Amino acid sequence: MFKKILIANRGEIACRVAATAQRLGIQTVAVYSDADAQAKHVAACDEAVHIGGSAPKDSYLQWQRIIEAARATGAQAIHPGYGFLSENEDFAQACADAGLVFIGPPASAIAAMGLKAESKRLMDQAGVPLVPGYHGADQDAALLQAQADRIGYPVLIKASAGGGGKGMRAVERAEDFAEALASCKREAINSFGDDAVLIEKYVQRPRHIEIQVFADSLGNCVYLHERDCSVQRRHQKVLEEAPAPGMSEHLRKRMGEAAVAAAQAVGYVGAGTVEFIVEQTAYDQPETMRFFFMEMNTRLQVEHPVTEAITGLDLVEWQLRVASGEPLPLAQEQIPMLGHAIEARICAENPDKQFLPATGVLQVYAKPASTSFSVGAVRIDDGVRAGDAISPFYDSMVAKLIVHGQTREQALARLDVALSQLHIVGLNTNVQFLRHVLATESFSRAKLDTALIERERAHLFHQERLGAELAVAAVVAHTVQAEQALAGDDPFSARDGWCSHGLAQRRFEFDFAGQRLHAQLSYGRDGLRLALGEQPAQALRTEWRGDELVLHLGARSERTRLYWQGEVAHVFSPRGATRITLIDALAHAGGSEHESGRLTAPMPGKIVSFLVKAGERVSKGQALALMEAMKMEHTIAAPADGQVGELLYAPGDQVAEGAELLKMA
Ligand code: ADP
Ligand code: ADP
Ligand code: MG
Repeated sequence: MFKKILIANRGEIACRVAATAQRLGIQTVAVYSDADAQAKHVAACDEAVHIGGSAPKDSYLQWQRIIEAARATGAQAIHPGYGFLSENEDFAQACADAGLVFIGPPASAIAAMGLKAESKRLMDQAGVPLVPGYHGADQDAALLQAQADRIGYPVLIKASAGGGGKGMRAVERAEDFAEALASCKREAINSFGDDAVLIEKYVQRPRHIEIQVFADSLGNCVYLHERDCSVQRRHQKVLEEAPAPGMSEHLRKRMGEAAVAAAQAVGYVGAGTVEFIVEQTAYDQPETMRFFFMEMNTRLQVEHPVTEAITGLDLVEWQLRVASGEPLPLAQEQIPMLGHAIEARICAENPDKQFLPATGVLQVYAKPASTSFSVGAVRIDDGVRAGDAISPFYDSMVAKLIVHGQTREQALARLDVALSQLHIVGLNTNVQFLRHVLATESFSRAKLDTALIERERAHLFHQERLGAELAVAAVVAHTVQAEQALAGDDPFSARDGWCSHGLAQRRFEFDFAGQRLHAQLSYGRDGLRLALGEQPAQALRTEWRGDELVLHLGARSERTRLYWQGEVAHVFSPRGATRITLIDALAHAGGSEHESGRLTAPMPGKIVSFLVKAGERVSKGQALALMEAMKMEHTIAAPADGQVGELLYAPGDQVAEGAELLKMA
């Protein structure tokens, strides 16, 4: 086994590989770009080498520098992760030439599978079933049109060098073909530097089912069952699961054996995935399912954890063993298959705006309890920490959430709960969208195909699960609680707005989903009452469990967690998440967070100045400090009249989110 390896990647996959290496006692070397100097993957490795600028072409794609880094640090092998150089045969060859082990297949196998058209010709020869299509070298436009007409519409035009869902066009009618071809070729030349295309019959409502294969250098090859990756947006995977619902033993064996034949046809070694497109006439009739080879990914796949969850195996460990010349740890019939696993890709994006990628700082990044990277009920693979940025340079994937259960139903329920416990503030994510997908009839009843999101769109976009009422109640309760804690006494006794005789009232104003709202809080002998707009007041009772607040409003109760981002409150509950803006400027001037009575930084940033001195008397709403975060200034204001105690930082200091900035005496 290797003593030291270099990981030529970043983000979650670099952390993932480092975790297994560490467990096996293998030293790790990270490489990093300017943007990643403080990244989690750098901290996860024993050594790190800076390899260049933030753009991938200046760093993670600079293979000469990566090979130099491996040499300089004495690494014996290079793990490429996925993306970047993982499917670059020149890099694999350069590693071999430099006397380094490339932890992946031989360069010749990458080359053979690298071009979609070439690989299809090879697979055809090996007897692997193909989608009817044209994969020829002749790229004459008239010929391509004639081929499309022959295949019959709808057809799919694919960039031969394409990948990652890019460079694909579906064409419904012959008269649209020429234009789609031109646009596909433009995208292909821009993205892949090669405008060759292939044409395939567009399989209607297909499923994407892929087989994980593993081969060693001694000629053994096995399959580790299948994954269903049919839930996609823009031809990119969103949810992946194993095993595939409705799969039969017989079909699994046929697909597994076809995948092994595909790998063996190109002299494969290591981890690979053979992707099939599956035609089905009904959702639960495996005997009617027909599968066709789509492509082979010659690397570890993003969704490999679902296979790990159902087999109990560590695929990175297998990669390392096979790359160091060991035989496969298990034979085909020894490979376990237990329960059901689902992975959700958590992405920084806005599903309601055509999944537009989002960037920003993870001001809050609270995760459900998980078992690090080993097999367990809930697993989170990520490459970021609270305070880290999702930058425009790299992929928008924030994390992967993987759950395992005895049954699909149990895994789905666990995933929904885990998603509700994943709190991200600072950028848009697809977390709520994923929960909507899980709740659809198609997903929950396993009616899977690649059109699922489109078909269920009415239930997926512009959905708010949490109404204004809960958001308002949460903000009001937090404000009252913060004042109570700061004042160090009971706000319901005689003070300011609160009076002892009979009834006191207070008005709050909000912006919720673009709508102006007001709420009235009143305190009577029988406790707090809250009225939203013109609606009748309801009893409001609160119960704190650590940072969690249990709200009792009228006859309903709900657990909530709230985070402030300036005047914007992010409210999370098991039902969902929402945001609401408090307009009450005085009570909430600036971005102070006064949870549990502490004056804390609402986000990571820098102290610009303190506007008060220790010992000074201040009144409610008075500005105490200025902070700079995300190129914006935030004012920390006094939540109540009082006296300033100690200042805990100096101007210019960098502070973490939640750091206590000053004390109120
Ligand atoms: P799959 O493994 O299911 O085929 P993708 O095709 O979405 O999934 O994943 C590979 C893609 O991920 C690459 O084509 C690339 O765009 C992107 N990628 C590359 N490196 C990273 C990384 N370190 N973290 C996240 N995504 C990456
Ligand atoms: P990539 O290299 O981007 O992963 P693939 O060829 O693997 O490209 O296809 C990605 C997705 O596009 C598939 O998962 C499937 O949803 C869709 N797709 C590919 N080929 C076909 C086809 N012939 N008919 C219908 N959908 C297809
Ligand atoms: Mg693919």
